Amino acid sequence: MIEKASVGDDANDSLVLLPRNDNSVDGNMKELSNGDVVYDKVAEEGQPIRPGSVLVRSKPFVFAIQPTLRNKVCENCLTFHDEWKGITLCDNCHLIGYCSDKCKLQHLEQHRVECELCVLREKKSLPHKVWYVSRAVLRVQVEGYHQFEKINNIRSRAFYDLMDHYEDITTDKEKNNCYYTEVSEFLGSLMPEKEEYLRIYGRLAVNSFAMRISNKGDEENVGTALYRAASIFDHSCAPTATTIFGPGGTLEIKSVISSDSLDLSSMFISYLDEADRRIARMAKLKKTWYFDCLCPRCIDEESEMLNHAARCETSTCSGEVLVNPETWSTKPCSICHKNPDSEYIEKYKDTYELVRTVNDENGGECRFTDVAEFLIRQMNPIFSPSDVDYMQAAMSAGQGHYEDRNWLKSLHYYQLAIIGIRKVYSLYGGYTGPTLQKMAECAYNLGHYDTAKSYIQESHELMKLVPGENSHLYQKNFLPLYLQIIKHK
Ligand SMILES: [Zn+2]
Ligand SMILES: [Zn+2]
Ligand SMILES: [Zn+2]
Ligand SMILES: [Zn+2]
Repeated sequence: MIEKASVGDDANDSLVLLPRNDNSVDGNMKELSNGDVVYDKVAEEGQPIRPGSVLVRSKPFVFAIQPTLRNKVCENCLTFHDEWKGITLCDNCHLIGYCSDKCKLQHLEQHRVECELCVLREKKSLPHKVWYVSRAVLRVQVEGYHQFEKINNIRSRAFYDLMDHYEDITTDKEKNNCYYTEVSEFLGSLMPEKEEYLRIYGRLAVNSFAMRISNKGDEENVGTALYRAASIFDHSCAPTATTIFGPGGTLEIKSVISSDSLDLSSMFISYLDEADRRIARMAKLKKTWYFDCLCPRCIDEESEMLNHAARCETSTCSGEVLVNPETWSTKPCSICHKNPDSEYIEKYKDTYELVRTVNDENGGECRFTDVAEFLIRQMNPIFSPSDVDYMQAAMSAGQGHYEDRNWLKSLHYYQLAIIGIRKVYSLYGGYTGPTLQKMAECAYNLGHYDTAKSYIQESHELMKLVPGENSHLYQKNFLPLYLQIIKHK
């Protein structure tokens, strides 16, 4: 899921250190080549854009790697090393690691202060978020609030420009500590005054991203990062842009729409899963990012109706009946125009409640293959496959069987899931292309070569634009499979 990180949430993981001295990526470069990395040109405002156009390219201002991954991710070049002894830990603190002596040397100056602090505190691992916030405080002290990162030909952004939500943070009962005690203990005399601390913390709490890096083509969530240029994007539950992570922790924001004239202030990313229910989205946005969502989908009380649907009661009709689970109002069947009777809607309602209960018991989402299959069996008689709950369960079952290399079942569930995916998510968002890719792989492994070809071609049309032909995901994960299927005689 492409989600922003909520630093305010409790996390009970551990410590690492200060980021590399990243020079801002010049937003106005033609094509810059950095070793084996080729970047697309950043779009200029006022110019036409299409799906895949890069709106912003940003480097982390501050980041922290999850302590459990300190043996896997190089702190300097931010690459994943899954192999045995791919990473060597810092001799002093043992809390961060490097892939090479060169990386260690390049990071030496950055790491010096935090390394001393760690040694002083007896190399105890800090919880991930405490470590992240501590690093940010040190980073701001070194770089200052005003050093900026370029966004494009006309805009730039400094740490100072980020909203600090001071009022919200200080009145939020769940956040009254904001790791103040833990961070002071770690930083000692380097700790700023409380108000300044809270203003730094506030900026991190609402502007951080869950940072992902590629591990042999698969993206892994490795930690938390703050990007100055990328922080200009506000949220919409109907996003017009999406986040793509690249080498070295680079974050690109790419358009998922076409426009004759780019205006960055009218482009939005989604901070959460757009398939979540309207009420749940609004509550999460308010609690984590302190705003009331004014996107078209949140404003319109009937919008939830587009995500929920029952099969038509008439067994010979293949139409569907839209249902709004906030009001339980319904629309007539899309094909035969028959109105569903109240008993039928009661049955839908009972199953809907059952799905909520089961998902709540499983940590809020449908994650386990057996649970997902159970829910699909319950939903099958009455839910339309385009229903968002059905889609989420089918996606989860498809994924579970995919991981078990059970191609037949995986393909079956993905074929059901793709119906809802096409309806709920933006075409160039993070789901349609990758799901079609997995369907192609399943079909190929089953020997259904024509089906595999048609899925992979459709996926290619999307993936070549977003994440894009120059992306790691496309080159390392998509392309080998694409070529294998396309060349099959
Ligand atoms: Zn490295
Ligand atoms: Zn160290
Ligand atoms: Zn919204
Ligand atoms: Zn009907």
